[in-house]
Amino acid sequence: MSELSPQDTLMAALAGLEVKVAEIQRELRRLKTLARNLEEENSRLRTWLVEATSGFKGEDKLRLLYDQGYHICPAQFGRVRGTEGCLFCHSFLEKRG
Ligand SMILES: [Zn+2]
Repeated sequence: MSELSPQDTLMAALAGLEVKVAEIQRELRRLKTLARNLEEENSRLRTWLVEATSGFKGEDKLRLLYDQGYHICPAQFGRVRGTEGCLFCHSFLEKRG
C-alpha cells in the first residue's frame, strides 16, 4: 500500500472538515429551533401569568405569584423560583405587610 501524497492528505483533511461543518450547521439549526420554541413558550407563559392574576390586586397578586413558584423580588421578578424560598421575595412581602 502506497503512502498518501501531501495533496491526498490535504484533501482527506478538507473532506473531514466539511463533514464537521455540516454537523455544526445541523446542530446550529436545532438550537435555533429550540430557542425559538422556548421564546414562544415563555411568551405564552407570561401571557398566562398576567391573565391568571388579573382578578387579584396588589399584594394578593404578588402573594399569589410567589405561592405559584415565581420570584416577586425586583432582581428576579417573574422568573421561576420553584420550591426554593427566596430571602429577597420574603423581605419584599414582609415590607408590604
Ligand atoms: Zn426572589
